Amino acid sequence: MTKDLMVRVKEVIPRTYNVKSIRFDLGVEFDFKAGQFLSLTLQNNPALKRYLSISSSPTEKCYLEVTKKITGSDFSKTLGQLKTGDTVTIQYPFGKFILEEQEKRIAFLSGGIGITPIRSIAKYAVDKNLGVDMALIYANRSLKDIVFKEDFDAMQKIYPKLKVSHVLCEADPGFKCIPGLINAQVIKNEVSDYARRKFYLCGPPAMVEAMGKILTEELGLDKKNIITENFQGY
Ligand SMILES: Cc1cc2nc3c(=O)[nH]c(=O)nc-3n(C[C@H](O)[C@H](O)[C@H](O)COP(=O)(O)OP(=O)(O)OC[C@H]3O[C@@H](n4cnc5c(N)ncnc54)[C@H](O)[C@@H]3O)c2cc1C
Repeated sequence: MTKDLMVRVKEVIPRTYNVKSIRFDLGVEFDFKAGQFLSLTLQNNPALKRYLSISSSPTEKCYLEVTKKITGSDFSKTLGQLKTGDTVTIQYPFGKFILEEQEKRIAFLSGGIGITPIRSIAKYAVDKNLGVDMALIYANRSLKDIVFKEDFDAMQKIYPKLKVSHVLCEADPGFKCIPGLINAQVIKNEVSDYARRKFYLCGPPAMVEAMGKILTEELGLDKKNIITENFQGY
């Protein structure tokens, strides 16, 4: 069942030059599954309502976090000005982009801000030491666009079954990455046992559609092994 809640801003964390995380104090037990999303309304104004994935994990019990790419919209501008102590209204939880705990081998394909629910799932699996083998292929324009880079670096250090491959349109000298875009060959190279994995795809709808086609038409995966989340609005 979904719930409506007024929550207070605990902290605002800049992630990149155009991405911010907002953490909220809960005050109540916040029941959700890693990978789910909520709706967030600013100033009780229905025009200032957007769906946002929860970027924190249920294991991070002191706060709930969402992470937004700041665009030129009124919603983005208002969200970008939030400060500690401000209140917003959320409705939660929604979505089926979640980890089935019996899964032993999964892969994530993501681009840009589409990383938010994946960060939640990965953090949950690492904190719970679930033992699930996770391969992430994360595409961005350039190094400065990578969201949660330090987080994933830290998770890889303590959880050897997490492998992160960065794909950058503009490769950076000194940073280990695959230049270009995610394609069938990149998936084959980085996730050699791809045929045995469940794939989680998240990002702008055009990207999710293109990735789905690569998996089904070029790599022969069954649709039932692909779970998607479309960030409508990009
Ligand atoms: C399930 C889900 C999870 C999401 N999670 C995140 C997240 O974690 N972080 C994040 O930054 N964004 C997320 N988004 C996208 C977010 O909800 C906004 O749509 C996006 O941020 C654009 O909003 P804006 O205010 O920046 O720009 P806007 O100016 O509102 O949007 C740009 C254009 O997209 C259109 N648009 C906006 N929202 C929608 C919509 N829902 N459906 C169709 N068209 C739309 C607008 O009409 C406009 O033309 C998510 C979306 C969905 C559906």
